[in-house]
Amino acid sequence: MLYLDNSATTQVHPDVKDAMLPYLMEEFGNPSSKYYTVAENAKNAVKKARNSLASLLGCHQSEIIFTSGSTESNNMIIKGVADYYQNQGNHIITSTVEHPSVLETCKYLEEKGFEVTYIDVDKYGRINVDEIEKSIKPSTILVSLIWGNNELGSLNNMEAIADLCFEKNIFLHTDATQVIGKVDFDLMDYPGISFLSFSGHKFHGPKGIGGTFIRKDKYDILTKFTPLLHGGGQEQGIRSGTLAVHNIVGIGRAAEIANSNLAANINKLRELESYLTKILTSKFKDQIVINNDSDNKIPGVMSVLFIGINNELLVKNLAPIIAASTGSACSTSKPSHVLAAVGMSIEQIRSTLRFSMSSFINKEDLEIFYQL
Ligand code: PMP
Repeated sequence: MLYLDNSATTQVHPDVKDAMLPYLMEEFGNPSSKYYTVAENAKNAVKKARNSLASLLGCHQSEIIFTSGSTESNNMIIKGVADYYQNQGNHIITSTVEHPSVLETCKYLEEKGFEVTYIDVDKYGRINVDEIEKSIKPSTILVSLIWGNNELGSLNNMEAIADLCFEKNIFLHTDATQVIGKVDFDLMDYPGISFLSFSGHKFHGPKGIGGTFIRKDKYDILTKFTPLLHGGGQEQGIRSGTLAVHNIVGIGRAAEIANSNLAANINKLRELESYLTKILTSKFKDQIVINNDSDNKIPGVMSVLFIGINNELLVKNLAPIIAASTGSACSTSKPSHVLAAVGMSIEQIRSTLRFSMSSFINKEDLEIFYQL
């Protein structure tokens, strides 16, 4: 079976599994305990993983807070900033193509009296930076925008967005879930980004672990917000709960691999994407339309419209040989809000498939499409 649904989740890298196993068995200590060996080993393992993530993202290790993944990180930052800064303003800016963990959180805050502006996007799902500027008000406390679109792969102009938020002195949160390990960036170059969310299972780490980058200010203090989870004070009091050491070791190893293979991974994904484009266009000719842009995107993510074909049926029929999806795994029952936001009709959305690749496959594997 050819797995082309890597935007939904990825397979765990074998080295990640090997790194994790001891922490499910003999190295079972709680990193918050002290003095005895298994506790110290757990603490050191968490420290190493935190360093690996910091070097992948280009930040300080103390700016990484482990969470259960991007859903939690997105909730934590948006609700936490809204709560902490409510006396300074009640306005949040986001976009129409965010992940449900951002959109639903914003809707929840609207019910609580916050005002949310949902910025429209262009035909590839990109946010126009001028629109953000126009939407900023004296009451704006947070801008939350996705870095790379999970259905079309389009990258936002994060440099310009971050510069604008920096200049206006407004917190910027970005959901970077889909770009980790696939886009080369360094947070040092984006001083305007205050918060960034990520999930381990999108870059060959385990599920149920992710984190948030939280920028330190010039006084070396982490940007403040109200925690989502109160309790034992782990993660600098920001995210309580006993650390999932095995998962943290896994995401750390995945970050190390992503970091050292970044350029090769990007090249391979680009190659795979252009080969699949070639195969699909030669096989299906004018029966398909490629919805995604061809550059300035996450490599290896494609959105393809099969004219007149029902996407649910197509995914089902392909399932024995190819794993693909109709769009985001988080909203399979509803037609994609992302594709609707870029102006596609319901018929077009219902005929669209997403193919998302990983370096675990080779060009030749894609030739299976010729047999359809
Ligand atoms: N944001 C984006 C852009 C995503 O693609 C996903 C996963 N589909 C999430 C957030 C949520 O990640 P998780 O399910 O790991 O919490």
